[in-house]
Amino acid sequence: MRLPIKRFCPHCGKKLDAALPVSDTTELQPKPGDYTLCFGCCGYLEFTEAGFKKLNINKVKNVQNRIELKQLRQYIKRLYTKIPNIH
Ligand SMILES: [Zn+2]
Repeated sequence: MRLPIKRFCPHCGKKLDAALPVSDTTELQPKPGDYTLCFGCCGYLEFTEAGFKKLNINKVKNVQNRIELKQLRQYIKRLYTKIPNIH
C-alpha cells in the first residue's frame, strides 16, 4: 500500500513510500509505534507521526514481533543476494 506521507530511512536515506503488512492484522495503514524494515538497507525502523526512527530490535517487547522482524530481515537479505540488482 502507498503511505500517505513520504518517509526517508534514517539508516540509509532511501525514500520509502510504500509498506507491506506482515503480521496478522486487519489494519492496513501503519500507525506510530509500528515496526518495519527498510527495503534499501534492511535497517530496523519504527513509524513515527512524520517518518521513521531507528529501531533497536532488542527493545521490542513483544517477542513474537521481534522474531518476525528478524526472520523477515534474513529473508530479504537472502533475496537481495540472489537478485543483486533488485534495488
Ligand atoms: Zn535504509
